[in-house]
Amino acid sequence: MSGKLIVGNWKMNGSLSANQDLVRAVIAGLSGTSCKAAVCVPAIYLPQLQQLAGGSPLLWGAQDVSTHDQGAYTGELSAAMLREFGVRFAIVGHSERRQYHGETDAVVATKAQRALAAGITPIVCVGETLAEREAGQTEEVVKRQLAAVIHTNGHCISEIVVAYEPVWAIGTGKTASPEQAQQVHALLRAQLKAATAHPERIALLYGGSMNAANAASLLSQNDIDGGLIGGASLKSADFLSIVAAASH
Ligand code: PEP
Repeated sequence: MSGKLIVGNWKMNGSLSANQDLVRAVIAGLSGTSCKAAVCVPAIYLPQLQQLAGGSPLLWGAQDVSTHDQGAYTGELSAAMLREFGVRFAIVGHSERRQYHGETDAVVATKAQRALAAGITPIVCVGETLAEREAGQTEEVVKRQLAAVIHTNGHCISEIVVAYEPVWAIGTGKTASPEQAQQVHALLRAQLKAATAHPERIALLYGGSMNAANAASLLSQNDIDGGLIGGASLKSADFLSIVAAASH
């Protein structure tokens, strides 16, 4: 892929007035930068994003998508509904959804499929827990998680984005070292190369306590094409300094 991609994950944060200030400041700061930037916001704020960011370089996305197209699924939002609000990305398989909502690899793979069918790029999150890392299972876990998505999505796999997010680094202030992250990214890249004729189209993001101080060294790694940013996406200055690091 050409240029880096920096995606904010606001999680369950925001308010109409705070979002307005944040989005306006981010858009103002994007002028002259060379990387792509997006924010994945709580779904209820998607119309606000469409209004504030429409026509600007800032793209927006959702944090989840239903495995179903329509019907008796109270509380769910289909990919087609999200697409009506200009959504370009949908995070699928974030560790918080795997952990708190019991999402399995198969569910995550179907969510990616629904997003792709509606013209939305799924950002497929994979990553090991601390216990899995300490047991030497990192490679096995991330490969298994990605394999499910490859298996379900076949040739469409070149249209996804993958985010490697070690669970122990999310929201903890502990970041994977650039070497640790690169090692896993290289594995994932090899797995994607074996699955598609167009692996170069797939952005591989790192996520897990990325911030203004560590972004440049992570983003300089060969197989790190961008970042998925939680906490640091809630302050425009922090988010923009990561965007700046990605624009070099
Ligand atoms: C995330 O939630 O995807 C994330 C990477 O969070 P943080 O940057 O806060 O660790």
